Formats: sequence, C-alpha cells, structure tokens
Amino acid sequence: MKIVNGYKLMKYAQDKKIVLPAFNTTNFEVTYGIVKGLQSTGKGGYVQISSNNLELSNPKIIKEMVDFAMEKLDVDVPISLHLDHGKSFEDVKNCIDAGFTSVMIDMSQLPLSENISEVQRISEYCHYFNIPVEAELGAIRGKEEAQALSENEGKTNPDDVAEFVSKTQCDLLAVSIGNVHGLKEKPNIDFPLLKEISRISKVPLVLHGGSGIPFDDVRHAKEYNLIKVNYGADIRKKFISTFGKAYEKDHNAFDLKTLSQRGINNVAKTVEDIMDNID
Ligand SMILES: [Zn+2]
Repeated sequence: MKIVNGYKLMKYAQDKKIVLPAFNTTNFEVTYGIVKGLQSTGKGGYVQISSNNLELSNPKIIKEMVDFAMEKLDVDVPISLHLDHGKSFEDVKNCIDAGFTSVMIDMSQLPLSENISEVQRISEYCHYFNIPVEAELGAIRGKEEAQALSENEGKTNPDDVAEFVSKTQCDLLAVSIGNVHGLKEKPNIDFPLLKEISRISKVPLVLHGGSGIPFDDVRHAKEYNLIKVNYGADIRKKFISTFGKAYEKDHNAFDLKTLSQRGINNVAKTVEDIMDNID
C-alpha cells in the first residue's frame, strides 16, 4: 500500500471509531520501527516528523524512508505521513511537495488573531492540495523552545474554540488540557475542559504528549471526539536505551548494524504495546 491521504485516514478512524496513534520519527531506524509496529498490529496511524527534527534531514528523505519501509514490509494498513509542529509556510510547502499527506501548523506562540490568520493562510494552501490541517490553540507545555507558562496560561480557552476553528478552517484541533511534551513533567488531564472543548469544536481533537499520559486517561479521552494521539518520547527513549545499554555492557561495542536492528525491533515493540493499550 502507498502512503494514504490524511482525509482518508481520518475517515478510516471515524468509520472504525478508533483513535489514531501518531508516532514521531527522526531517522531511518525509528521510521522503519514505527511502520513495522503499525503493520504488525494491523491498524493504521501516522508517521510524523516535526519541523525541528527535519533539520537533521529533509522531507524528501523521510518520505523515501516511509515508502521503502512500506514496500519492504508489504504494508496493508493505512499510514499517513504528517508534518508535526510545522514552524513555517516554507516547511509546509516543502513537505507537501515531497509527498506528505497531512500537516500541522503550530502558531500557538502567537497572539490569537495572528495565530488565526497564519493558520488560515496555511489551510487555504493545504486544502488546494487536498491535505488536512491540524492547528494548535493554547500552548502545550514542554516544547524545546517553551517559554515559562503558568499552568492556566497554556490551556486552551474554550471561549476561543468556535472562532478559531471556523476562521482557520483547520481540520483537526490540538488542545492543551494539562497534557505535556516529554517525560520530565507529569501531565494532569483536565477532563471537564476536554469535554467542554469537544462540545464546541466542529472538528476532531488531537492530544499531544501521549507518552506520559496513563492509558486509562487516553481511553477515557476517546469519548470526547479525540481522533489522534501523539507519541514521541516513549519510542525515542526506547531507541536511545538500546545503544546506551550496549555501551554500558561493553565500551568497545561497535556492531552498529546489529544494534540498529535491535533498535528497530524495540521501536516496533513499543508501538505495538501502545496500540494494544489505547484500543
Ligand atoms: Zn506536540
């Protein structure tokens, strides 16, 4: 199967009443491990990469890696390739040109009116190419470039949701409801806020920072029009620890190929575990 269009993947999730996992990649091994894990569970999802991580390669290389993994593993589950936390119009354009099938633009650091106008401009562009757009309202804590926010400052304000969604024409809404990126801070999901946002938002919701959130909470959140949940830290930690453990055991370890294959398998296993638990 080829990489599927983001709208098609969203429809697949809505028809099957499932939440789509989205796994962050950085390099070849993690990409291959994610595709392998998705295929072995028999369920669809996203491979995604952030603008930040794309600095290491470029969208064409990542697209090529996903194509290669899907062909080699004879994949028959729907997988979309998504730009996560897109930082600029340029990044969005380059990803679409390379064959990405879904896009997030993150202008959540801007004041509301500027966030709206920037997302609006991106949506217009993406929709011309039939690519769905995810946008963020409120600021999810724990980004590399995060400024210090007090707990409430970062949360999505439900009063802004209707205007934001209708003006930006976004297709998915990333919410800040006590979820955090990375594993350093503990998330604390504000379910009353999630419920209120889901009542107002005309588009399905996305939860970032899945790695730190208890699986019970993720399953509970599915009741509130949740379509996508992002996992980055868990699989990265697993991949890094593969090499860390080998080095601790033997400071002269140099069999990179075997370790890389082990890294792929550890990523695939983590993907499987996550998918078994969020269903
Ligand atoms: Zn995120």
